[in-house]
Amino acid sequence: MQFDTPLTIALSKGRIYKQTMPLLKHAGIEPLDDPETSRKLILDTNHEQVKLVIIRATDVPTYVQWGAADVGVAGKDVLLEHGGEGLYEPLDLEIARCRLMVAGRYGASLEGDPLRIATKYVHSARDYFAARGQQVDIIKLYGSMELAPLVGLSDLIVDLVESGNTLKANGLEPLEHIADISSRLVINKAAWKMKHNTIMQLTDLLKQAVEQNR
Ligand code: ATP
Ligand code: MG
Repeated sequence: MQFDTPLTIALSKGRIYKQTMPLLKHAGIEPLDDPETSRKLILDTNHEQVKLVIIRATDVPTYVQWGAADVGVAGKDVLLEHGGEGLYEPLDLEIARCRLMVAGRYGASLEGDPLRIATKYVHSARDYFAARGQQVDIIKLYGSMELAPLVGLSDLIVDLVESGNTLKANGLEPLEHIADISSRLVINKAAWKMKHNTIMQLTDLLKQAVEQNR
């Protein structure tokens, strides 16, 4: 495709970057550097006008919301926490799939008043237990949630589960399903208007690539 306007795309390193690359390639966009080996935070691409910015997964909605990036790729887990303000979410890229779940030690009870829940996903956890009419104390963590029930920090955790092997290795099991998670294309609302043709074309090509991957 042709780019008649500058376009900045926000991505995080790791699984999202790796799984987004083939989709971008289908749209004719190829980075000139590899973020896994380069220290650059702004990557040039084969199109003069198109740049990739490489940031933390949780920062992608923020960059796109404020227009520092026109479009981005973010996990639904991250979007649920962010709230989606200032963003359009037109396309499920069907990558980085996993589930947001409640987990605990084998046989752990979901009763208890209040239950203590350790999680990075404060909003999703609060909403889930509120919908069940249950009082919970949420303990915000930034990683290694599996440790919390083992050392008595919490009764349960809310975390992403792919195979369940990390839970199992720590004597935990998935208990309740909260949401299916995959990565989404997100678009700044002003950019969607100002750069409509370019972003529409990009969205259509990415959609084709997603359909071919099925
Ligand atoms: P870090 O692991 O470096 O602290 P992070 O957890 O934010 O950062 P990733 O682990 O790469 O970054 O996760 C990025 C996104 O990929 C998540 O927001 C989620 O949507 C998805 N994801 C995370 N873990 C898994 C998993 N086990 N399987 C599939 N997708 C996952
Ligand atoms: Mg991670």
